[in-house]
Formats: sequence, C-alpha cells, structure tokens
Amino acid sequence: RADAAMVQVKQIGRNCLHFFDQDMQLALEQRVELEALLRNAIPEQLRLHYQPQLDAQGQLVGAEVLVRWQDPHKGLISPAQFIPLAEASGLILPMGQWILHSACEQLARWQQEPLLQQLSLSVNVSPKQFQQANFVNQVLEALSATGADPTRLKLEITESLLFNDLERVTKTMTELKSHGIRISLDDFGTGFSSLSYLKQLPVDELKIDQSFVRSLETDDSDAAIVRTIITLGQSLGVEVIAEGVETEIARDLLIAQGCHRFQGFYFAKPMPLKELERWWSQAGQQPRPA
Ligand code: C2E
Ligand code: MG
Ligand code: MG
Ligand code: MG
Repeated sequence: RADAAMVQVKQIGRNCLHFFDQDMQLALEQRVELEALLRNAIPEQLRLHYQPQLDAQGQLVGAEVLVRWQDPHKGLISPAQFIPLAEASGLILPMGQWILHSACEQLARWQQEPLLQQLSLSVNVSPKQFQQANFVNQVLEALSATGADPTRLKLEITESLLFNDLERVTKTMTELKSHGIRISLDDFGTGFSSLSYLKQLPVDELKIDQSFVRSLETDDSDAAIVRTIITLGQSLGVEVIAEGVETEIARDLLIAQGCHRFQGFYFAKPMPLKELERWWSQAGQQPRPA
C-alpha cells in the first residue's frame, strides 16, 4: 500500500510539474523564438529614429538616437520590448556596435553642412556594452571610420552602471573624455547614485528622468526632485537636460528653475531621418552649438 501511495504522490507531482511546465515552456519558447528573430534582424531590420533636443529659445541643439526593430510581420517594435532581451542574450553587443557606427555616420554627414555642424548626437549605451574591455576602442573606431567629430558625440549611460566596478567605470569614462567624447547620465534620479561618486565622475550632463518631469506640474515632491537635480548640475558644473517634456507648462517650470535643455513630445517625437529633416526645415530651425 505504501508503494501505491508513492505512485500516487509521484503522479500528482508529475501533473503539477506538467502544469507549471507548460507555462514555463511556452514563455521559454516565445523567448527563444524572439531571440532567434532578433539575431536574424541585426542589422537589416534595425531602424534609427532621432528625437530633437532644444534650448530655452526653442532652437535645435542636438538629437538622441533611439533604435527600433522593423519586423516584416510584427511591424515597428519598441526598444522597451527587445532591449532587455538583447541585454540578456548578449545580442546587445553586435546591435550596440551597429548603432554606434550608424550614429557616427549620421554625425559625420551633419558635419558636412554648415548649419548642422554644431549639433550633438546622443547614443544610448547599455551597461554590458560599456563594460566590454575594448569599448573605448570600439567608439574610437566608429569615429575614425566615419570621420565623425568626437566632441559632438554624447554617450548616454544609466546610473545603474555606477553600481558596478566604479573604478573601472571611471577609468573608461576618463579615457573617453580624453578623446573629447561626452558622457550623459540618463534616467537621472531613479538610481540613487551617491553624490560623492558623482563628484568624481567625468560626467558632462545629467538627464532628468521623465517620470519626474511628467508629474512636475502636479506632484510637489517630483518638482522638488527636479529642482534638486538642476541645482546639483549647476554646482557640479554639468549640463542638465530634461526628458519627457510634454507640455508648455512643464517647459516653463523647468526654465524658471534654471534648466535650459529639453527633449520631449511637446517639441517633437522621435522620428526617422527624413521626417527629422522635414521637421527642422519647417520649424525654421537654426541649429546652434550644444
Ligand atoms: P531613454 O534613453 O530614456 O529614451 C527616452 C524614451 O522616452 C524614448 O523611448 C522616447 O521615445 C521616450 N520619450 C521621449 N519624449 C517623451 C515624452 O515627452 N513623453 C513620453 N511619454 N515619452 C517620451 P523609446 O524610444 O521607446 O526608448 C526606450 C528606452 O529604450 C530608452 O530610454 C533606452 O533606455 C532604450 N533604448 C532606445 N534606443 C536604444 C539604443 O540604441 N541602445 C540602447 N542600449 N538602448 C536604447
Ligand atoms: Mg537615453
Ligand atoms: Mg531616459
Ligand atoms: Mg530609459
């Protein structure tokens, strides 16, 4: 009878296992499938969109490159849906290299045009990418292969990177900076980075996270955080840019607090190059130094 009971327990166990298995199996299969699709999509199905960055006078000072995945069946896929997968699978490395190279190509083209020469181009760099031993060389190669001006290139990294080997991160940043490349801390304010770290880091720009900017008008504590970041930037002598600026009120509040670099739907959405070019010719944009 003990044996019979054992068999029954095993049976139940197996059923449970089977039950969990199916969900997990499905999730895994979907992930594996998406990963295979993504692997195959690099770089042919990747598209770069550009979102303008403006100053307090409303003049164009630069743009941020934002990647999209143009899947032949699924259409345009947002990076929120594939960057995490790309990170986890390591695909972010070839993808990131392609993005960097393509961004530098664009930067070099703008430099041929007197009106666009001064624009800066911000490129998002994922932590895994930044931490590669030869990252600095990859950036230098992209610059020299395309002829882009290093001082117009801005690399956006997130605060989470600072929780890794800070000494190495600082060394990489310092090396990049020695070539004139600029560094921006993206999603700033969400990562609890210590102020003493910040003082040591060769950072050129703090990018206020859009979660604070979006509720600036309605949430006093978010407004206080925004004010603090602007003051911090001023005392460290680094540029501050606000992302996710969606309304005129938000822009005016930011200006009143001393922020004079903006990016957000109020001004323009991220768009393909063709549209961007149409946008700035229609807006009568006179780009100027960032
Ligand atoms: P991020 O770098 O913080 O980029 C800002 C995101 O906010 C973009 O989303 C942009 O379209 C969106 N945004 C800009 N203005 C507004 C606004 O006024 N309101 C709202 N609601 N949203 C606004 P996107 O393009 O979907 O990118 C999401 C994230 O994916 C990026 O956040 C970045 O972390 C990552 N990402 C995008 N492109 C790349 C890339 O080339 N490489 C890497 N490593 N990551 C990337
Ligand atoms: Mg960014
Ligand atoms: Mg951000
Ligand atoms: Mg982000």
